Amino acid sequence: MNKKLFALFGNPVSHSKSPLLHNSLFKHLAINACYTRYLLQDSNLLKEKFLSLGLDGINITVPFKEDAYNACDELDEYAKSIGAVNTIVLRDGKLHGFNTDAPGFIASLDGFLPANALILGAGGTARALAFALKANGVDVVIANRSEGRLQFFRQNGFKTTTFDVLDGDSNFELIVNTTSAGLLSDELPFEKSKLAELLSKTKFAYDCIYSETLFLKMAKGLGKKHKNGLDMLICQAFFAFKLFIDEEIDKKMIGIMKEAVS
Ligand code: NDP
Repeated sequence: MNKKLFALFGNPVSHSKSPLLHNSLFKHLAINACYTRYLLQDSNLLKEKFLSLGLDGINITVPFKEDAYNACDELDEYAKSIGAVNTIVLRDGKLHGFNTDAPGFIASLDGFLPANALILGAGGTARALAFALKANGVDVVIANRSEGRLQFFRQNGFKTTTFDVLDGDSNFELIVNTTSAGLLSDELPFEKSKLAELLSKTKFAYDCIYSETLFLKMAKGLGKKHKNGLDMLICQAFFAFKLFIDEEIDKKMIGIMKEAVS
C-alpha cells in the first residue's frame, strides 16, 4: 500500500499537538501513513494545495475552518449546520468535509449529559458545541460579550443573551467557556461576582482552553467538577483519525493519543 499523507492546515501551526496525536496512533496500529503541518498563507489556495501536495486528508485550524467549509464538495450534517469544517478527506476525487469538534466535545464529557447548558462565547467553537449538545437533547443558552455573533444562534433556534444582562440567579448544570478570555492572561469572560454566582450552582465547569484558566480555578475553588480543553482536542483528533483511515477503531485507542501528549 502506498504511504498515505495527512496534514494540519492553519496559521499558525507550529504549536499544534495534532501531528503527535495522529502519528502516535499510525505507529501503534502499524499504518503506513504520516501526518505533518502546513502553514497556509492564503485561504483561497486551500483546495489547490490539498490536491497539489497529494494529501489524503487534512485537519483545519484557526483561521480557516469557514474557508474549509466553502472549499468542500460534500459536507456531513454537523459541518452543514455549524458552517465550519475541521476535517477533510479525499474520496473518489472529491473533498468531503466534516466537523469532529462537535462529537469530540461530547465524547470528552465522559458520559456526563446535562439537562441544560450555558455556553459562554459565540464563535466557531460555540457553534460546534451548541449543535452537539442540542443533538443530544440538552437545552442550550448562548451568552456572549457582544450582540453580533448571537444572531446566527437565534436564527438556528437557540436562546441567547449578552453577558451584561445574563441573570446570575440562573441554574445551569454545565457551563462551558468557549471565549478566548483566559487564553493569554488571567482574564475572565465577564464580571467575577456574577460568574462565581453561576458557578456555585453548576455541576460541571468546562473550559475549551487547554490550560487551567482562572475560570477553572474558580470552579475548582468551589469544589466543582471541571475540565480543560485537552480531552476535547484529543477526542476530535480520534474522530478525524477514523475518517482518515475509513475504519472503526476501538475507543481505547484514545488512550494512545492521550499518552502521546501527556
Ligand atoms: P472565535 O474567534 O471564533 O470566538 C471567540 C469568542 O470569544 C467570541 O465569542 C468573542 O466575543 C469572545 N471573546 C474574545 N475575547 C474575549 C474577552 N476578552 N472577553 C470575553 N469574550 C471574549 O474563537 P474560537 O471559537 O475558534 O475559539 C475559542 C476558544 O476555544 C479559543 O480559546 C481556542 O483556543 C479554544 N478552542 C479549543 C479547542 C479544543 O479542541 N480544545 C478547539 C477550538 C478552539 P465577541 O463576539 O464579543 O468578540
